[in-house]
Amino acid sequence: MRSIQDAFPLLQSPKKIFITTHHKPDGDAIGSMLGLYHYLVKKGHQVTPVSPGEIPEFLEWIPGVNMMLNYEEQPKESIKALKEAELIFCLDFNDFSRTKHLEAALAEATQPKILIDHHLFPKPVWDYGMSIPEKSSTCEMVYDFINLCCDNALIDSDIAECLYTGVMTDTGSFRFPVTTASVHSMIANLMHHGLEHSKIHEHIYDSWSENRMRFLGYVLIEKMEVFHKYNAALISLSKKDMGLFNVQSGDSEGLVNYPLSISGIRFATLITERNDEVKMSFRSKGDFDVSSFARQHFDGGGHFNASGGRTKTSFKETIANFKKILSDIHPQ
Ligand code: 5GP
Ligand code: MN
Repeated sequence: MRSIQDAFPLLQSPKKIFITTHHKPDGDAIGSMLGLYHYLVKKGHQVTPVSPGEIPEFLEWIPGVNMMLNYEEQPKESIKALKEAELIFCLDFNDFSRTKHLEAALAEATQPKILIDHHLFPKPVWDYGMSIPEKSSTCEMVYDFINLCCDNALIDSDIAECLYTGVMTDTGSFRFPVTTASVHSMIANLMHHGLEHSKIHEHIYDSWSENRMRFLGYVLIEKMEVFHKYNAALISLSKKDMGLFNVQSGDSEGLVNYPLSISGIRFATLITERNDEVKMSFRSKGDFDVSSFARQHFDGGGHFNASGGRTKTSFKETIANFKKILSDIHPQ
């Protein structure tokens, strides 16, 4: 993969640009995609941001959300945009399979593809890009990209709100170790460009439905197992559990982090039963590498302290298998 600077000549004249991100997009996925969208539009390009699937309700306020296509609802328009594009940007994932429905179309596309991402082990399928696992978020990297293009002055409150969203959500509100001095400098700069940060915290953290809050209470009381011996905890949610409290897609977002607030717990897992697979989310504190854990045992990947995976075995078997692995590896 060539450096992203090598792609700058391609951006010198107005282009049709397709931007996409991973399936089940989170704050960093949507924030980086729309932050880049607003910037490229300001530069005179014709840009179509496409999410591979629906976005969680807590992101529905984000600037530019109405300009975005959802592949699951608009497959024809999405593929048309991909076919007509002269350039493709891929944000916050580094393996086409993470886009689910768009995987085949992206693999077939012959236009130059540009990657901006912070996950470990990118697949060698991009022409240009930035792949920096040390970065807090893809949003931080879009900010770096705008600066590399010498366009800091173009940052406005829409771009700032999009980029802040991803940095805030991927750093656990600026508390994970990836929150470097550069992250804080970036946020200060976004504030100089009109960012009102507390509005975004409210949109994301203080916009729960009553049901979601009660669901959290139920999950912590009934569905969380703590294994002090292994400094680990597990939350497992069946389809039946997800049917309680009328929970919406996105309402289980963040549940996996709660056990890490228990003193001594350094490894947290969420197992969720879905229609076509069992989804796993892993989080850790300190030196337990959940990215290689996910890769080794659950066909997944991600970051050192936050990763995910999936299995085709049944929900019950997955839980039993996970507990067996836990006792075998005995994390400390
Ligand atoms: P989450 O638990 O929020 O789904 O995912 C945590 C992190 O792991 C995210 O950065 C996500 O991109 C990554 N991740 C989640 N599931 C998978 C997967 O199946 N494969 C890979 N390679 N990464 C994943
Ligand atoms: Mn991210």
